[in-house]
Amino acid sequence: MNFLVLEVDASNNASMSGHDRASPEGLGTGRQPALNGCPWHDVNEMLQTAGLRPTRQRMALGWLLFGKGARHLTAEMLYEEATLAKVPVSLATVYNTLNQLTDAGLLRQVSVDGTKTYFDTNVTAHHHFYLENNHELVDIPDQHLALSKLPEAPEGYEIARIDMVVRLRKKR
Ligand SMILES: [Zn+2]
Repeated sequence: MNFLVLEVDASNNASMSGHDRASPEGLGTGRQPALNGCPWHDVNEMLQTAGLRPTRQRMALGWLLFGKGARHLTAEMLYEEATLAKVPVSLATVYNTLNQLTDAGLLRQVSVDGTKTYFDTNVTAHHHFYLENNHELVDIPDQHLALSKLPEAPEGYEIARIDMVVRLRKKR
């Protein structure tokens, strides 16, 4: 996997491969540096580079996923989009594809609780707000959010990465 280093302080983003040609709109949302031209062509290239055969279904799902900048989607949300776009896929295929793209390092999985897993098209180190009222995952813009004290990894292990999810609810 790609994440063998600790990624708490995101100031070392630039050292992560392929992400130094960040988007002109700067930090925050909308970062998808792999897409510089025609989305269809870019998705094809992303899949090939990741060693995945660009099947029609992968291409269509990749286009829905990566064609709109940084996004956080559950499998169900992507399945719904695919259905609306008349892409003939099953929910199982959507799950499989999302897992393959995650294994290939093109997506990052963010689990919010036991039942909700989001797939993030922004694979650089960052943390999230979770809006509990509308079940929405949003990037935390502060790139320097850090834990003041890290737990020690048990013997034989190293920290692969740290995902912080700050849960928000509407003020009562
Ligand atoms: Zn994110």
